[in-house]
Amino acid sequence: MLSSRMSKLHPYVPGEQPKDRIYIKLNANENPYPPSPKVIKAVRSAAKKNPEKLGLYPDPDSNELKEAIADMLNKSGGVLCRANLEKGKKNGSGAIVTPSEFDKIPFVVTPDMIYAGNGSDEVLSFVFYAFFDSDRKLVLPEHTYSFYPVYGGFYNIPLEKVPLKSDWTLDTAKMLELANKENSSIIFANPNAPTSIGLSRDEVREMIKAAPKDRVFVVDEAYVDFGGESCIPLLAEFQNLVIVRTTSKSLCGAGQRLGYLVANKELVDAVTTVKNSLNHFPIDFLAQQAGIAACRDAGYYVRAAQSVAFERDEFIDFLREKGWSVLDSQTNFVFCKKQGVNGDEAYRKIKEEGILVRHFATKGIEEYLRITVGTHEQMLALREVMDEM
Ligand SMILES: *Cc1c(COP(=O)(O)O)cnc(C)c1O
Repeated sequence: MLSSRMSKLHPYVPGEQPKDRIYIKLNANENPYPPSPKVIKAVRSAAKKNPEKLGLYPDPDSNELKEAIADMLNKSGGVLCRANLEKGKKNGSGAIVTPSEFDKIPFVVTPDMIYAGNGSDEVLSFVFYAFFDSDRKLVLPEHTYSFYPVYGGFYNIPLEKVPLKSDWTLDTAKMLELANKENSSIIFANPNAPTSIGLSRDEVREMIKAAPKDRVFVVDEAYVDFGGESCIPLLAEFQNLVIVRTTSKSLCGAGQRLGYLVANKELVDAVTTVKNSLNHFPIDFLAQQAGIAACRDAGYYVRAAQSVAFERDEFIDFLREKGWSVLDSQTNFVFCKKQGVNGDEAYRKIKEEGILVRHFATKGIEEYLRITVGTHEQMLALREVMDEM
C-alpha cells in the first residue's frame, strides 16, 4: 500500500517529551522563560474580540507579522543578547531597544525580505525544495542540525558531509573545495548545533565570497540571539544568501511554531511559490497574533536572552571547575563531556534525578551531553546532580 518513496524516509527523532513524570526539561533547547505578558494578552484578546476570525482563513502571507519581524530586526540588530535597553519594566517589557554598535544592520530590512512559516523546520523544508537539486551534492558539516539530512532524504538531495576540525569548528576550506567541485549549495547552523560554536560574520563573508555565486548559501541562525554574529548585514553584499531564523529559542515560542527567513526578495518569492504549492496558510491566526506581539516587545526577549547567556556562562565555569570539558558556547546550550564518564550513562543518571538532557548515540559525539540552559533554579538542581559525577 505504500509508495516507493516511503522507503527512503528516515524521520527526525526529537528530544523526548515523556509523560510519566514531571521532568526539568533541558533537552530540546527551548527557552525556560514564558512568552512576554503582551503575547498572552494579544492571544486572549484576539480570540475574545474577534472570535469570527477563528472561523476565517488567516492572512496567507502573514503580512503584519513580516512587518513586525523586519521592525524587530532593524531595532535589535538581530542579536538580542547584545541589544541595548532603555527604560521599560524590570523584565525588559516595553523597553526601547537599540542595536549594539557591532550588530547594527547597515540597511533597512523590509517585509519583502522576510518569509514567515510554520516553524523554521517547515521554512527549511521549503528552502530545500526551492534551491537544492538531486543532480549535485549539498555540502554540510558532518555534525550539524540533524533535520538537514532528513530533508535530504525526503527531497532526494544527495549530501556531502564534511567532518568538523579537531577543535569542533567547521572545516570551511574543505566545504568550499567540495562545493566548488560540483557547483553546490552549502548549509550549516551558525552558531552550529550541537557544538554551540559559531563562525564570525567576517569568516562567513570570506566563505560566501569563495563559494559558488549562482547557488544559494544557507545560514541557519536558530541560536544567534544568545551571542553569535548575525549574517543579516551580509545581505547587502550577496544575492545568494538565505538566513533562516526561529521564534522557538530566543522568542520563547517553540509551542507556537513560527520560523522565518531573511533573504533578497527574489529568493523570498521563490519560497513563497513553494508555500503556495504545498500549504497556502502555514501560520494560523492566533500564532500570527502571538508572533506580532512578541516582535513588538523585543525588550522582554532581550532581557530573557541576557539571562540565559548569564546562566550559561556561570554553568560553564561550574562544569570546568568540576573537570568537565566544555566547548565555548554562543548559544542557549552547552556541549560537554568528562573523562571517564560515559555519555549515555550520564544522561540516564541525570534522568533518574528528574532532569532531561540530550545525548546523541551518533558516532564521534557519543561521549558528549548537550544541555539546554534553563532558569537559575533549574541549573542549581542540575549542578547538584552533576557535582557527584
Ligand atoms: C531548533 C532548531 C530549528 C527548528 O526550529 P523550529 O522553528 O522550532 O522548527 C532549526 N534549526 C536549528 C539549528 C535548530 O536548533
